[in-house]
Amino acid sequence: MFVEDNPADIELELLTLRKDGFEVSSDVAQTAEEFNSRIRTASYDLILADYNLPQWRGTEALDIMRQENLDVPLIVVTGYLGEEKAVEYIKQGATDCVLKDRLARLPTSVRRALAEKRLRDQRRHSEEALAQKVAELARSNAELEQFAYVASHDLQEPLRMIANYTQLLAERYRGKLDTQADKYIGYSVDGALRMQALIQDLLKFSRVGRAEVEPRTTDCQAVVEQASKNLQAAIEESGTAVNCKGLPTMMADPAQLTQVFQNLIANAIKFRGTDHPVVEISAKKMENEWMFAVSDNGIGIPADHWQDIFVIFRRLHTREEYAGNGIGLSICKKIIERHGGKIWIEAQATPGSCFKFTLPFAPSPKATEA
Ligand code: ADP
Repeated sequence: MFVEDNPADIELELLTLRKDGFEVSSDVAQTAEEFNSRIRTASYDLILADYNLPQWRGTEALDIMRQENLDVPLIVVTGYLGEEKAVEYIKQGATDCVLKDRLARLPTSVRRALAEKRLRDQRRHSEEALAQKVAELARSNAELEQFAYVASHDLQEPLRMIANYTQLLAERYRGKLDTQADKYIGYSVDGALRMQALIQDLLKFSRVGRAEVEPRTTDCQAVVEQASKNLQAAIEESGTAVNCKGLPTMMADPAQLTQVFQNLIANAIKFRGTDHPVVEISAKKMENEWMFAVSDNGIGIPADHWQDIFVIFRRLHTREEYAGNGIGLSICKKIIERHGGKIWIEAQATPGSCFKFTLPFAPSPKATEA
């Protein structure tokens, strides 16, 4: 579209473009009203605007397009334009400025404007596609979470019945049927109890995903002390030392953070080596977050499992070797991620394991909704 009052200039510009191989059809607007109605009804590849028309300043087209949220490249084509004005128009959103007595530059300028617009469109499409994928993922995550919650919640009751009645059967009829029957009843009790524990863990996990992150000023040293207190019996029995260094006071959900430290310390105790367990907890201030390290002197974790042990129910040992269902680290991961942080395992010089996690100075609302 031309924003121009001089038909001769329009002809000349069209001629220049056609000579350079462009196939051009065009409309003309001479007033703001004309521009307004044209830009709403038709779609244009490009606007060539003189900046000084008798009725209005052609460059006001830039304001109109901004208001309408339209992305059409606009090149100012004018008789005279000082450098300052040119800079101002570019700042306002014009793609380029071309002087009417230097029209030979017009085709290059148009070509560049169209190429830039194509790039912007491509970027916008990829951003839209990405946003759509993110939304789909969030929706399917929420559905999965809902499913896990409902399934684990609703399965509790029938499972409780099975567990109770198989236990009752075991008590009443042990030794009264044959040994084979005793064995079968024993398997059923065992299976029902294990399933109950798994379902309860799944429910615990899905509750973490549903609970709001409630950030408050949190003294991390006090949080570790609370976690240690909750583990007092195991700490005393195993002779564990928990050493802290430089833990900050920051915004976090103290109850959830206690759970993280508690799970990590409990694992350090459970997966201890031959020496008394020593847990070193420290924090380092980064640009936008705190980076925590929780290391122990236990049996260590083979590097090829550093990723997968954060998955729910994933374990590296049988229950006979070490008790547990493989829920602790998945809960830590969920809590940290909902605070907007990350958790991973890092190599350390001494034997044992080193868990690292980050917590942003302030949990982001997005992470809270996740
Ligand atoms: P659980 O402790 O119930 O097995 P977790 O999710 O806490 O579940 O841990 C998953 C697995 O990761 C454990 O079974 C163990 O193999 C490994 N693991 C976790 N923490 C440690 C640790 N501090 N040292 C050695 N292995 C560990």
